[in-house]
Amino acid sequence: MSETTNATPVTTGSVPTYEARALAVPSATEPFAPTTIRRREPLPTDVRIEILFCGICHSDLHQARDEWNNTGPTVYPCVPGHEMVGRVTHVGSAVSKFRVGDMAAVGCMVDSCRTCEACREGLEQFCAAPAVFTYNSPDPHVGGVTHGGYSESIVVDEAFVLRLSSELDPAAAAPLLCAGITTYSPLKRANLRPGQKVGIVGLGGLGHMGVKFAAAMGAHVVVFSTTSGKRDSALALGAKELVVSTNAADMEKHLGTFDFILDTVSAVHDLNAYLRLLKRGGTMALVGAPQDPHPVVASNLIFGRKHLTGSLIGGIRETQQMLDYCAEHGIVSDIELIAPSYVNKAYERMLKSDVKYRFVIDMKKLKS
Ligand code: NAP
Ligand code: ZN
Ligand code: ZN
Repeated sequence: MSETTNATPVTTGSVPTYEARALAVPSATEPFAPTTIRRREPLPTDVRIEILFCGICHSDLHQARDEWNNTGPTVYPCVPGHEMVGRVTHVGSAVSKFRVGDMAAVGCMVDSCRTCEACREGLEQFCAAPAVFTYNSPDPHVGGVTHGGYSESIVVDEAFVLRLSSELDPAAAAPLLCAGITTYSPLKRANLRPGQKVGIVGLGGLGHMGVKFAAAMGAHVVVFSTTSGKRDSALALGAKELVVSTNAADMEKHLGTFDFILDTVSAVHDLNAYLRLLKRGGTMALVGAPQDPHPVVASNLIFGRKHLTGSLIGGIRETQQMLDYCAEHGIVSDIELIAPSYVNKAYERMLKSDVKYRFVIDMKKLKS
């Protein structure tokens, strides 16, 4: 290590650890409160990062409130957060990519097996082991589960730490680590040609990034929102049009015209209304992840041989490509910077779709 940590290390699990301040929920129904957690002291290939900013993703809310218990329960206390930007404060003896003082970013994963087929293809999010996600995954070093970015610091193997260009505002760049890569990846795979018609369903944290990327890729972007109140900002973000999805007559006007639709909605809603808007052979990709199932009428796929698919964040290599693309194109999120004490209120506002368009926590203001 190039520097030593200040507190006396304690061994928890298999390695020495230190205490870090964090915000946690003690159960699915209680609010966030300050707490302390244990992080491992950096191992030879680890970097320790002082977290400056952490975005609030709707997945944080699903996890904190145990809304994904069909795929595995939330372990409490739960410290969410997987959109982190910070400064490297310590590096392990074998670290080569980072130096103390560098800006760095961490997203939704902190490790994977690195040897399975998915990992070898750079798709660590599909690691067979599986991947160690940033929160609520078994922590192979400290024991218990991993804790995310609502915290003052984190220790991550350098292979899972991203570089951040100094061109990008660090607070507004934080949401790129999840909202950014989750929308960039399926849009990039769609191989959009200029002028192709792309629908973005839901104008929230993911949706607004989807609009920015699809517009930067040259698409004709249409936003589908439950409210007309977001029309001006949708156009400012790069959309050509906003359709209020509850207006059947306006939806009808777009029947059979879309090449690609990206659905970012966090709650169950009618997918069939959108499948009908796809062209023959068109694709609708789901990234929104409510727990309950969406009924799909088969004929909406059969007639026109349409594709319904899904997408999960992106691999580490693609996440770095996305960050570099953002630096090149001047793309960041539209954010509302909040103090840690505002997180409970921010969750309530996010549930009401009352955020333009991502809350980012100023982690320097975290008090114990
Ligand atoms: P968000 O900021 O809360 O945005 C969700 C948007 O969905 C809202 O702004 C709203 O848009 C729309 N919406 C909400 N409730 C609705 C309802 N009942 N009917 C129709 N539309 C509704 O959330 P986010 O952070 O963007 O995350 C969106 C979803 O993606 C979450 O489920 C999250 O877990 C998931 N996610 C998935 C991945 C992945 O890898 N697949 C990664 C990150 C997040 P309007 O106001 O415009 O209608
Ligand atoms: Zn997320
Ligand atoms: Zn693997």
